[in-house]
Amino acid sequence: MITRDQLAELDADDALAPMRGRFHLPEGVIYLDGNSLGPMPKATAARVAEVVRQEWGEGLIRSWNDAGWMDMPFRIGGKIARLVGAPEGNVIVADSTSVNLFKLLGAALAARPGRRVILSERGNFPTDLYMAEGLAALLDRGHTLRQVEAADIASAIDDDTAVVMLTHVNYHTGAMFDMAAITEAAHAKGALMLWDLAHSAGAVPVDLAGCGADMAVGCGYKFLNGGPGAPAFLYVAEHLLPTIRFPLTGWLGHAAPFAFEGSYRPAPGIAGGFVGSPAVISMSALEVGIDIALDAPIAGIRAKSIRQTALFAELVEQECPGHGLVLASPREAARRGSQVCFAHSEAYPIMQALIARGVIGDFRAPDILRFGITPLYLRYADLWDAVAILRDVLTSGEWRQERFQTRRKVT
Ligand SMILES: *Cc1c(COP(=O)(O)O)cnc(C)c1O
Repeated sequence: MITRDQLAELDADDALAPMRGRFHLPEGVIYLDGNSLGPMPKATAARVAEVVRQEWGEGLIRSWNDAGWMDMPFRIGGKIARLVGAPEGNVIVADSTSVNLFKLLGAALAARPGRRVILSERGNFPTDLYMAEGLAALLDRGHTLRQVEAADIASAIDDDTAVVMLTHVNYHTGAMFDMAAITEAAHAKGALMLWDLAHSAGAVPVDLAGCGADMAVGCGYKFLNGGPGAPAFLYVAEHLLPTIRFPLTGWLGHAAPFAFEGSYRPAPGIAGGFVGSPAVISMSALEVGIDIALDAPIAGIRAKSIRQTALFAELVEQECPGHGLVLASPREAARRGSQVCFAHSEAYPIMQALIARGVIGDFRAPDILRFGITPLYLRYADLWDAVAILRDVLTSGEWRQERFQTRRKVT
């Protein structure tokens, strides 16, 4: 039996406990959705205000140089590189995750001419699959997106596979791939390996260079707490940089943007991955979130995450038996990212009822209750309190109320 007192004791000697104070967390909310939209760091508002009032308001266009706006995508990319095991010059901040996927997939197909398959997991995040489909259709050269079950990925890689595109931690179940093993399997067949780190960066240790990954993308607004719609990042391994050709040829990816030449010449290396002007205000918010992540050792984050995800799953099973909740995340810690999911046929109204009681997780179609575990600001006792509310919602049947049944635009 797990008790609330035991959890409060864990909080008392949690080395990460002080990190919570760096976030604004609304009263009466237990936030289990930091894997969808991270909460606001307290320092963000002042930093964004400074960028708006001083750098934009006073500096005007001079700030592209004087306030270092033009260098921000490299500077912040360099900080992200430290979180994902990459050399500092191999990561830039740009665009959205979806657009970065398109750019890197295009570059991967160009680097493997003659191979026609983009291989991915059935059940990968839809935008990853959609961008691959759209690129293949646009190229119209016989490329296809092939989707197989997670367990069959390694054996499905063959001589026609140009690139293996996988999300390291599955958004739906929290299942985590063995990055080193899959990357090695891709390379053994001459394919490139592209990782989506949307649910990994800032949540689990990642060693892109150590694993030999060729390319990666990741998201700024989830575990990196960069704010809604924060810019994303992309990584390209050193060995690809001399020859990489990105498919989107905007002026900021040009070798000399301010020469205003009449035709495109790619900037060398990763700078060719830029398209248009960087989102300066959004990037300034993102940097605050990343600075916090850099202050928290990832080994400590991972250890607390493993403990919290295991405790949460155990608590739900202890406190809510007989209500039809089925654990949908791997029980084995090494195969689990930083979330816990339960399947239930009435997952949607149950999650709406939980949200109405201040326990914010999310629903993922068709039947998943998803709870993000974010060690930077989540206390052990919060797990107890969230599960007590879940138990209440289930035993009282309050989720059956009419108001919890209607689907809203964002779930
Ligand atoms: C959240 C997420 C995205 C988001 O893409 P955007 O272009 O930022 O909307 C992409 N891929 C995965 C796996 C995600 O979890």
